[in-house]
Amino acid sequence: MELYLAQPRGFCAGVVRAIEIVELALEVYKPPIYVYHEIVHNAHVVADLKKQGAVFVESLADVPAGSVVIFSAHGVSGAIVAQAEQRQLDVIDATCPLVTKVHLQGKRYSAQGYAVIIVGHIEHEEVIGTMGSIAGEVHVVSTPEEVAELTVSDPGKVAYVTQTTLSLDDTRDIIAALKTRFPDIIGPGLNDICYATQNRQNAVRDMAREVDLVLVVGAQNSSNSNRLKDVAEQSGVKAYLIQDAGEIRNEWLTSVSRIGITAGASAPEALVQGVVDRLRDSGVVAVHMMNGVTESTVFRLPRELLEAGMIATSGRPSIE
Ligand code: SF4
Repeated sequence: MELYLAQPRGFCAGVVRAIEIVELALEVYKPPIYVYHEIVHNAHVVADLKKQGAVFVESLADVPAGSVVIFSAHGVSGAIVAQAEQRQLDVIDATCPLVTKVHLQGKRYSAQGYAVIIVGHIEHEEVIGTMGSIAGEVHVVSTPEEVAELTVSDPGKVAYVTQTTLSLDDTRDIIAALKTRFPDIIGPGLNDICYATQNRQNAVRDMAREVDLVLVVGAQNSSNSNRLKDVAEQSGVKAYLIQDAGEIRNEWLTSVSRIGITAGASAPEALVQGVVDRLRDSGVVAVHMMNGVTESTVFRLPRELLEAGMIATSGRPSIE
């Protein structure tokens, strides 16, 4: 068997920034540091940060008044921001800047009197946060069928934004349905799908043409990892989403000679290497790196945290 590694794969700039924020906060403020929700959707990352002294909570009521609390990369609603203020928590916001951009866009549309339609999955933390950041009329759709069932107060005054980690193809279909249903609708096109999501989907699509099986390393609750599996399957290849090498089943490997591996934006490279080692033990004789784009995007850490840690910002590349 031969292995093919998608390029790019794994950590994106938003995930790197979120993890760095927790690690730096632990260093500067000392444990315990509270984190609202999983900082990124990966159990291995969360377990590692827990060992360093991070305490993950699902409710701000579990954070002692006056403590440091970090909001996860997925972003939070206005109600959570208000609750943190009311409890006098010292907030560090690890929301990915690309998610914040969607929040701001949604708020702008809403302030201009538009009903805002979020294209995304209603149960996903990012969408919950985006929905809760918009004060006016807001709806969520995840399929063209749901577009057909929508009821809005003024069909002539409708705007949309999209979750950052959707499949480009699915999003295109939903936006087409929205434009048919509401000819005057305004929105950013596919621009809200983030660069990391786009690059990883393009890479897995290219790789899927070359292989018999695709393994996506990522968490079951990771939206972008699930979409990578969908994209591989839409290319006609069997694909599995695995948290780590321990989930690989020997029966998947019978009658395959070329296996492709990719990883979601919140999956550490060490997990990919664990999968490579596991497959070498099962008879893989060669590992190839696919060609693909090289990413250089880096997001700045929050200024207050850098200042608190007395770390000069000058050495760090700026936002792309
Ligand atoms: Fe930000 Fe995109 Fe990474 Fe999500 S996948 S954290 S939007 S860079």
